[in-house]
Amino acid sequence: MRIILLGSPGAGKGTVAKLLTEYDGSIQISTGDILRSAVKKGTDLGKKAKKYMDSGDLVPDSLIMEIMEVRLQETDCRNGFILDGFPRTIHQAQELKKTLARLNIELDFVVNLEVPSNIILDRLSTRRTCINSSCQEIYNVKNNPPAQGGKCKKCGHDVIQREDETAEAISDRIKIYNQKTAPLIGFYENEGFLENVPSLIAPETVAEIKKCAENIKIKKRVVAGKKN
Ligand code: ADP
Ligand code: ZN
Repeated sequence: MRIILLGSPGAGKGTVAKLLTEYDGSIQISTGDILRSAVKKGTDLGKKAKKYMDSGDLVPDSLIMEIMEVRLQETDCRNGFILDGFPRTIHQAQELKKTLARLNIELDFVVNLEVPSNIILDRLSTRRTCINSSCQEIYNVKNNPPAQGGKCKKCGHDVIQREDETAEAISDRIKIYNQKTAPLIGFYENEGFLENVPSLIAPETVAEIKKCAENIKIKKRVVAGKKN
């Protein structure tokens, strides 16, 4: 499948994306993960992105588009992709539309993950992340704590609270989401692409998205049949 996951910070984009990759071989592309790994490695991109990320602000559109142009052309995208955390602004969405048209890639649909704001706040402040950039397993101190001593159950590295997950940064990220990213819901609704899906229990969310994917496949078959 070729989809975009929209949703506020803490809506579960990462978790849902990871589960969906097990479904049909589509890969997860998280701009947040790409940026965090660049910061850790100290690359040029990382150096440019760090100050925005630490304060919970968005990295400039031009940087993000540079990364995504390249990323979408890598061979592992051929079986499908799940965009997690991108696009984040109307400008990115418009640029993505042009890029996909140029690369002759058709998007299936856009999922808007819906979660009430009190649940979002609770999720973000209790979230912890594995520090290992090739793992990045997500934990929750309340209902899914890491192993003893704050270690990752999967890889054994430290599990930490991200710098952008302090109370202040969280409130900034939500403000920025409402200002800059929430308008994408209307954008994709106008494009006729939007599926609103509640994101309270991950397996249920995933099942709902799979259903959308099946429906699109059937629709495409019908359209192809009519053409022949
Ligand atoms: P979240 O947990 O808020 O979904 P991500 O892990 O997706 O956060 O991203 C972390 C940070 O990386 C963001 O706060 C932002 O600074 C930057 N970032 C990620 N994706 C984008 C994007 N598409 N455009 C601009 N900045 C981005
Ligand atoms: Zn880990």
